[in-house]
Amino acid sequence: MSIQRHDSAKQIRTLLVDNSDSGAFKLRTFPKIGESLPAAARRVLTAIHPTLLERIIQDTAGGLHEVCTGNASVWASSRLDETYSITNMYGVGWHLDRGHFDETLREACDPVLHKGKFLGLRRVDGGFGGGWEIDVEPMVAGGNVARFRAHWLVDATGRPATIARKIGAVTRKHHDLLAFYAVLHKVDIDSHAASLNGTPDDNDSRTLIEAAQSGWWYSARLPHNKRVLMYTTSPSNPSTRNARKMFKFFDMARDQTSHIARVLVDKSIALYELPSAEFTRCTAAGSSVLAPYAAWEPVLSSDDYQPSEEVRFQGRGWCAVGDAALAFDSLSSQGMITALDGGAFVGAVLVRYLTGGDNDPSKTIDGEGVVASICDAYERVRVKYEGGRAYYYSLVRRFDEAEDTSEGRSGQFWQSQRG
Ligand SMILES: Cc1cc2nc3c(=O)[nH]c(=O)nc-3n(C[C@H](O)[C@H](O)[C@H](O)COP(=O)(O)OP(=O)(O)OC[C@H]3O[C@@H](n4cnc5c(N)ncnc54)[C@H](O)[C@@H]3O)c2cc1C
Repeated sequence: MSIQRHDSAKQIRTLLVDNSDSGAFKLRTFPKIGESLPAAARRVLTAIHPTLLERIIQDTAGGLHEVCTGNASVWASSRLDETYSITNMYGVGWHLDRGHFDETLREACDPVLHKGKFLGLRRVDGGFGGGWEIDVEPMVAGGNVARFRAHWLVDATGRPATIARKIGAVTRKHHDLLAFYAVLHKVDIDSHAASLNGTPDDNDSRTLIEAAQSGWWYSARLPHNKRVLMYTTSPSNPSTRNARKMFKFFDMARDQTSHIARVLVDKSIALYELPSAEFTRCTAAGSSVLAPYAAWEPVLSSDDYQPSEEVRFQGRGWCAVGDAALAFDSLSSQGMITALDGGAFVGAVLVRYLTGGDNDPSKTIDGEGVVASICDAYERVRVKYEGGRAYYYSLVRRFDEAEDTSEGRSGQFWQSQRG
């Protein structure tokens, strides 16, 4: 989207390969986690596409996304700290139907979208100045593998960083965390119970976060009468045993939280039913960093190669964006906005490179320059994120002296995150 937005003369041919199964999200059998989109995302949504923000606002009015009116967290102490969207210069944020949001982004890319799974790549040299050849498996069974050539590859495959890792880059985990979660459906409160108790309801549109002895809890109300409940801890923490089992997970939430427990039950009536699944869903949720973020390989025609304007642009490059480059602890709720900002930035830099600065020498950038710009920008984001993360985890000391339980040695989780 960003390339199309910046390439006003339409000189660049772009292809977006994506293997998502939109049917699965529409059926809502596999809800995607990651729904809190901060209000500040309005800026980048407007920058990358002329109608995207408007579409999301319309979908929200139509009940397809929920607004997020603020954050309420029980963190450093047992007191509830709140921030309100009314004090945010960008207004309200969202609790998205994440599958629908991702589909909206794909629709906006429709002219260049190719449904398929990236399989592998080869380096190719020759007439067109060097590049990559990639194989893409079709989404329909029995179809032929498609082959494409490109000068630049952008890996946006999320945490697996499939393309970058095939090229030889390495994903380094900085903090290892697991998130266990369930999407709860609202129960139909029967009219008798309602008449006895008033009409119980969940009216809390805030993002709720609560620190517990062995990890932290998160909950947000979702569209379509749903609520996500999530618990994050380290993979080696003994609490993972119970967090895997739906019943025990729910019991843990009730025992370890106060404000989250309160939105699940109102006037002694359970507002949400337990999913029928025996186990909660589990996913990697820590921080990871790709090394390197990007690279440029010049194609040298002979041993006595002399750099010149013409050959400066011959070669192939790649870079990663979003979680493929930098994956954040979900505590930050910064994953989507960083992926969108990163995509907008990379698109603008690549347009400068691929169009030769539109004949403006001051804007020209070569392959090495693209890589340097991307690495500098990502490093600034990483350093800021790491500092913020260290600060927030350093605040939680109240479990250090708590009694050990079957779910772990007291304070073990928090000490490991501070270390
Ligand atoms: C538990 C948890 C909670 C989170 N909560 C939040 C939150 O509340 N707010 C927030 O902002 N962020 C949150 N995040 C982070 C957020 O979800 C990610 O940062 C965001 O999804 C990154 O976007 P992305 O486009 O880089 O990757 P993804 O969203 O993972 O998208 C990758 C895309 O690449 C496609 N793909 C992958 N492999 C291939 C292949 N081989 N061929 C073709 N296509 C492929 C996939 O189909 C997908 O469409 C959370 C993360 C976790 C783990």
